[in-house]
Amino acid sequence: MEKYLSQLNEAQLEPTIQIGGPMIIIAGAGSGKTRVLTYRIAYLMHKGIDPFNILSLTFTNKAAKEMKERISTIVGSSESKNLWMGTFHSVFAKILRIEADKLGYPSNFTIYDSQDSGRLIASIIKEMNLDKDIYKYKQVLGRISSYKNSLITVRAYFQNPELKEADTMARRPRMGDIYKAYVERCFKAGAMDFDDLLLKTNELLTRFPEVLMKYQNRFKYILVDEYQDTNHSQYLIVRALSDKFQNICVVGDDAQSIYAFRGANINNILNFQKDYDDVKVFRLEQNYRSTKNIVNAANSIIDKNQTKLDKVVWTANDEGAKIKVNRSLTDGDEGRFVASTIFEEKMNNQLHNSDFAILYRTNAQSRSIEDALRKRDIPYRIYGGTSFYQRKEIKDVISYLRLIINPADEEALKRVINFPPRGIGQTTVDKLIVSANGYNRTMFEVMKNIDKTNVKVNSGTKKKLQDFVTLIESFQVLNQTADVFELAEHVTRTTGIIKEFNKDGTPEGVARMENIEELINGMKDFVEGQKEIADTTGSLAEFLEDVALATDADADKGDPDHVALMTIHLAKGLEFSNVFIVGLEEDLFPSAMSGNTRAELEEERRLFYVAVTRAEKQAYLTYALSRYRWGKLVDSEPSRFISEIDEQYLEITTPKEELRFNPMLSADIFGDTPSATSKKASPNKIRFKPAKQAVLKKDFKSKKEPEKFKVTTPKNLKPVAKTGGNTNLFDNKLVAGNKVKHLRFGTGEVLKIEGAGADTKAEIKFQHGGTKKLLLRFAKLEVI
Ligand code: ATP
Ligand code: MG
Repeated sequence: MEKYLSQLNEAQLEPTIQIGGPMIIIAGAGSGKTRVLTYRIAYLMHKGIDPFNILSLTFTNKAAKEMKERISTIVGSSESKNLWMGTFHSVFAKILRIEADKLGYPSNFTIYDSQDSGRLIASIIKEMNLDKDIYKYKQVLGRISSYKNSLITVRAYFQNPELKEADTMARRPRMGDIYKAYVERCFKAGAMDFDDLLLKTNELLTRFPEVLMKYQNRFKYILVDEYQDTNHSQYLIVRALSDKFQNICVVGDDAQSIYAFRGANINNILNFQKDYDDVKVFRLEQNYRSTKNIVNAANSIIDKNQTKLDKVVWTANDEGAKIKVNRSLTDGDEGRFVASTIFEEKMNNQLHNSDFAILYRTNAQSRSIEDALRKRDIPYRIYGGTSFYQRKEIKDVISYLRLIINPADEEALKRVINFPPRGIGQTTVDKLIVSANGYNRTMFEVMKNIDKTNVKVNSGTKKKLQDFVTLIESFQVLNQTADVFELAEHVTRTTGIIKEFNKDGTPEGVARMENIEELINGMKDFVEGQKEIADTTGSLAEFLEDVALATDADADKGDPDHVALMTIHLAKGLEFSNVFIVGLEEDLFPSAMSGNTRAELEEERRLFYVAVTRAEKQAYLTYALSRYRWGKLVDSEPSRFISEIDEQYLEITTPKEELRFNPMLSADIFGDTPSATSKKASPNKIRFKPAKQAVLKKDFKSKKEPEKFKVTTPKNLKPVAKTGGNTNLFDNKLVAGNKVKHLRFGTGEVLKIEGAGADTKAEIKFQHGGTKKLLLRFAKLEVI
């Protein structure tokens, strides 16, 4: 152990060997927070604390796995086997299975993923005859999710008229009824969604004091990584479990709080000291991950935020290379720049593919990058996006497996009742749903007892329904003896799924077949792997739980030497030698959705801070002057974030004035930036003002508004205001004949205006550069 403790600096050592009591480590990126957590667990065990009594909560299951491996090398693997480690969702799903009966659930409950939840909600909206354009199922789902994360149960909803009022204002007066129906249907199907895993855990711990006591006594030591991104529900669970012994250690960085949009509450970290007595606060200041240039650049970014705890981050690492800023004409060019840079760097410096990561704000951006990487034969992997288990064919197979474990699972049943096609049409399925709702039974039960029910179908259909029931029941019998691998092989063969994909002979069909093969091979590994873990058997139920809770960052298959592509959100906690942050453009990053409040812009800035601090040696910032978005080629302006970085840390190869973020050209989001028509501020003066962000800072300061980190006001119910420079133009009613100035194309004359609202376009004849049609939403024009 001594050997390992010597791998920590003094500031890290102190919290590592602090055994009892509440403690918090607040420190900047790369300062060793996760390392301290890992070593601390090893130290606790070294001091004789039973791993059975330690609970460690991480951001991804992969992070948990890596931590466990590290701990194994320090204290031995037989010891660390019994540690409870994982995400909130995976740990509490296990506890809920043990205690399910108390809540009226079967212990084999299904976990609905967001696709299942979305489909169920869409079905309920249809059954209730509501307008699906007003009741958009994704928005409804988001709303329900935010209720659950704020612990607003259906009953609480109906007791609080304000909630109903808010939904009515948002033109969705039946929201509460949908919520109620959704909860009832999930319950009947023996299913919990992701939010339920936290909500029901809270319910369990509040309603059953003896259960709370049991887990308080079990988890005498609790550790939480990335505490800044816990939501209210998670906060309450940690609070309750740690209440008795108060041996709670949380680590986090307020500057890396990036999930407010999903209900994460930064106050959890800010208030920690108020929640427990005698809290020990530790700070780490030395960054071990990145070069001086990167650390300093990152500091200069986060400096622009008003809401933050004061922190010092420095590094003894080398100065390193400056952050390279690159501009491309189009998103295609941007992709080619990234691919060719990786290609050359690999050649010149003997680097591996895995030394590179490409981070973006939205998943949609990966396409142009992927194209370019493929052309260069650079292996890559996309983390997140449509995960493997979300693919159609995989979900089909999994749905059969889910039905074996839990035939009440309505979403799984609806998915495969007629796949592969067996002549059971939608009308029959609708009849089954209505009947099941009427009897308050599951669809499977109705099918099984079809003769005794009121379902009117012809004898042919009846036989098909009974055959399906028999098929599933035969799988259930096999499940008692076969392992998950054997079972899946049998299921895919006997249901005809394999044949179905084989017969179409298209490349897609072949790809689907290969995916199913990969799934089944994965099961083989799973069966082998589970033998290594205590208390597991490699059963189907365990496999399904793993699948349901696989987070986007967990995918870990294939050749490990690949370039990693992922959203910045997913990159939290990770590190890479070389990092490309692409698409640094206004309205993309910061996102157009973040234009409402300073709090939202500050969250985007924290996201940028997270992105830059992933890099160890070299960071690249890239932007394109035009980009395909929503099927259209639109103009874009460099992100203000580039110019917010202190120039001394950047190597800019582009015309610098282009990078100068001009508040006037951006929307008047806070009502206090000079407008296009303001006489006091001539546009030219502002435009060529040096890029010192004092301008922005001042603007923000002049308008103090309360921080919005509330979970009860989900973003999707707010009107979305854009940050385009065009808002002013809409007001000004640009007309043909106007003389305008464009940041890149220079001066020109408006020939004609067409379209309306967000689609308004102007045809402009520029003095240089010819005639162009620009979407006013994005073209940043000034009237001159
Ligand atoms: P983030 O905020 O991004 O999650 P973090 O604070 O959790 O970062 P770690 O990931 O624990 O930081 O550490 C960053 C890197 O520095 C890791 O590669 C880690 O192994 C290394 N590191 C941490 N402390 C030391 C140390 N004392 N000596 C050498 N390397 C260290
Ligand atoms: Mg970390």
